[in-house]
Amino acid sequence: MTQLTSLQDVKKVFYTDEIETHALSDVHLDVDAGEFISITGPSGCGKSTLLSIMGLLDVPTEGTYLLKGEDVSALDQAARAQIRNREIGFIFQAFNLIGDLNVYENVEVPLTYRGDMGRAERKQRVEEVLETVEMGHRARHFPSQLSGGQQQRVAIARALVGSASMLLVDEPTGNLDTKNAAIVMNLLVQLHEQGATICMVTHDPRSAEFADRGIALLDGQIMDDTTTMQAA
Ligand code: ADP
Ligand code: MG
Repeated sequence: MTQLTSLQDVKKVFYTDEIETHALSDVHLDVDAGEFISITGPSGCGKSTLLSIMGLLDVPTEGTYLLKGEDVSALDQAARAQIRNREIGFIFQAFNLIGDLNVYENVEVPLTYRGDMGRAERKQRVEEVLETVEMGHRARHFPSQLSGGQQQRVAIARALVGSASMLLVDEPTGNLDTKNAAIVMNLLVQLHEQGATICMVTHDPRSAEFADRGIALLDGQIMDDTTTMQAA
């Protein structure tokens, strides 16, 4: 298996009002291309902080982060944003769609930062991923006109549109009813079967079961790392 990312001895400390919070300590985590990993643990144990560092939204206080073999631990914000745009797709609990852009425009946003992609190619790519999540028929709708499940599918299309190396998913079904949660989970499973690398934070044990590797975090440390299935 090809190694995609590697966190080595990663520590993250937040300083606020003279209080030190050790959000992550001694984290070692290697992710291979094609893995579907669940990250579980109690509230405040560092799950979102871990995703932020893996997604280049934040930097470790100490330690090394390798992405495709390149040390990205200490890049400045602009360099991180550029790599993030190409390599990472985010899916959040709250969908985070832009309210005054329609479905098509929301999905197109990550591509507008790509100087090397013309309008026709962008259109083809957006239409492709909207079909993947079965939202092509809602391209001209606005987020407020969609159900939560539909909004999350649009958010997944936005995460897919740039052909990211890795999808980082934080509580994807947290705002959804059982039926829509199942649709969204099935979609993630389908993407994984097609080769996507997924790291998914969830507090739902049933969602975690869809992953083929489970990471359990406690107080900022990895307590358990179990591969339940051979990655395809
Ligand atoms: P989880 O996602 O598992 O609930 P987080 O990664 O959000 O946990 O937070 C881990 C710890 O770090 C918590 O104690 C939280 O309060 C703290 N924390 C997270 N982000 C910040 C921040 N920007 N500033 C200060 N403390 C933070
Ligand atoms: Mg969190």
